[in-house]
This record gives sequence, structure tokens and C-alpha cells, in this order.
Amino acid sequence: MMTSSKDLKRTANFFSREISRLVDRPLRLMEVCGTHTVAIFKSGIRQLLPLEVELVSGPGCPVCVTSNAYLDTAIAYSRQDDVIITTFGDMLRVPGSSSSLSVQKAKGADIRIVYSPLESLDIAAANTTKKVIFLAVGFETTAPTAAATVLAAADAGVDNFYVLSAHKLVPPALRALCSNDVHLDGLLLPGHVSAIIGEMPYQFLAGDFAVPAVIAGFEALDILQAVYMLVKQIAAGKAEIENQYRRIARSEGNPDACMVMKQVYEVEDTVWRGLGVISGSGLRVNGKYRRFDATSNLTVEVEPTVEPCGCLCGEVLRGVVKPVDCSLFGEACRPEQPIGSCMVSLEGACAAWYRYGSGRWPI
Ligand code: SF4
Repeated sequence: MMTSSKDLKRTANFFSREISRLVDRPLRLMEVCGTHTVAIFKSGIRQLLPLEVELVSGPGCPVCVTSNAYLDTAIAYSRQDDVIITTFGDMLRVPGSSSSLSVQKAKGADIRIVYSPLESLDIAAANTTKKVIFLAVGFETTAPTAAATVLAAADAGVDNFYVLSAHKLVPPALRALCSNDVHLDGLLLPGHVSAIIGEMPYQFLAGDFAVPAVIAGFEALDILQAVYMLVKQIAAGKAEIENQYRRIARSEGNPDACMVMKQVYEVEDTVWRGLGVISGSGLRVNGKYRRFDATSNLTVEVEPTVEPCGCLCGEVLRGVVKPVDCSLFGEACRPEQPIGSCMVSLEGACAAWYRYGSGRWPI
């Protein structure tokens, strides 16, 4: 049955009124996921919330949290004549320590944009004298497809395909976030990641930190309802993991996708921009499939990492500051001339604040 725009408006007004009724003190709620950040800006949800409710962006944009050291490694590989780099498009313009993949591409490096990791296998098959390195960046949402590509490479006997993994796991990052001094009253959890891992991996938020959290979908009403569910928990003094996005994210997640991930990857400590090294938060190709792991098989000299001067991406990703608190925002740093990763990706908090307006920088 179709829902009329009048019904949608009525429902949005109901959530908005109820949130205002329940809130009796300032609340800091974090939307962990970059897709939520963009949806919140696009739909004008902030205007429907009382001033006491502050929504802050979190570390859920995979490109944003990928470290400079990883980028520098990818750039170093791209300088080798016998290497083809395959990557999703949004990695191209992220500045590394002294260059970016787009600059290297303009200089002649063979860097190709793919829309699925599997395309890398076709490229490898068509270029047998080259080493094809796929930049595997993303959370639990994209790791299963990259893992399936490794399995397909093994099945097909492809021996010139490699993965440079920067895959990251969201729950350990949330634990790290809650363990430091950032005050958060509640979390909106990423719907896509939750569709893979389910509800269980988040239980520590309620148990260890007494932080309520709600898995949320991506429509404006999904997000508004999830905020309402959070505010209701807070008003009742509860801290539970709830799921607003049951139509897609089942409580048990997607066991098949998790199985494929486990078949190919092992957990390792890894570096997050802004959060530093987080124990058990990264994925690397495991021993059985190590021949597909770029860093284990292909030597490369990587320049020392230099972080962009004045960039507050780390603080933005921890919810410590807003993008507009960075002195470079909108002046030296803009989407067409980004200094930090949060201004590059469409899901980056700085890019969202810039594109959709924050009061200080109207559209
Ligand atoms: S505005 Fe630019 S330089 Fe400042 S934190 Fe954001 S990405 Fe970094």
C-alpha cells in the first residue's frame, strides 16, 4: 500500500513532537554512519529536532577513516611500472602525504576505477604480465564481496591479483570511541553494516558503557524514528540495543556473508584516522589465501607519513569538533580542493556540511 506524502508528514510531525516532549536536557547523539550524515542534511532532520538534541557525525565513512599510511602505500605501488591499481572512485582524490592517486593517474600510473572488486579479476586476466592490486577499503558491508573475489581468484587460478586491505570493523571502533573522553548520550548505528553483522556485536555498548543505541535505516522517517527510540530510552533511563531497520537488518545479520569474510580474512589491529590503532578492528587476508595479500608478496618503499597541517579530520571523526570548527573549512579546504579525507568522500562530514549548509556556509 502506498503511503501518501500527507501521511509521511503526519508521522514526521508525530516523531518530532514526541522527541520535543521527551527531551528535558541537552543530548549528544552520534550518527555513526556517513550515509546517515548525508541523509540528515539532505532531509532537514535537524530542523525537526529541539535545540537540545545535537547530532554529531562519527567514524562511519570508510574513505575518511582510511589512514594516510595506507594511501601512501597504494600510491607507492601505483608508481611501479608492472602494477595496475583498481579502486572505487572516491579513493582517487584523497590526499596522501605528498600525492594522491588522481595525481599519480594524471602522471601516467595505471589506476582504474571499478564498481565491484570482481572487475579486478577481469583486468588481471586481460593483463597477465601486470600485478593487479585492488584497494579493499570499507567496513563489514564491502568486505564480503572482496573476500568472495579472493575465493573466485583462487578458484580460477588467477596469480596476478592482490588485495591491499584496509577493511575495518565497526564495533571495535565504537568501543574505542566510548572508552575515550567523548561524551555521547546515544548512537544511531549503521543500517548497512548491521545487515551483515546483526545486533549481537553491539551489545557491549549497553552492557559495558550504558550507552543506548538504535540500528537505523536511511530514509528520513527511519532516522527520525530512530532518534525518537533513542530519546525514549534515555527518558526512561534505559540503555538497550534496538533495531529500527528490521526490514533489512535481521537480528542475526547475514551469516553467509559473515562466513565468506571469515573464510578469507583474519582480524588484526589497524590504524583509523583520528582514532589511532584499534585492537582487533582490521581485516587482512589470512594464511590460506596469503598469496593474494599485496603487502605480504609485493615489496614497495613507502614514504614517511605526513598528516595535513591544520586538518581536524581526526577530531571530526571522533565527534569532538564540528567541520566548521576547522579553520580550513570552506576556505583552503573545499570539495574541489580537499585537504583532508572528510572533505573528499560524499559521505564525509566536512563535505556534507559544505554541500548542504551548516548555517555558516549556506548552499
Ligand atoms: S575542513 Fe578539510 S582540513 Fe578541516 S577537518 Fe575537514 S577535511 Fe580536514
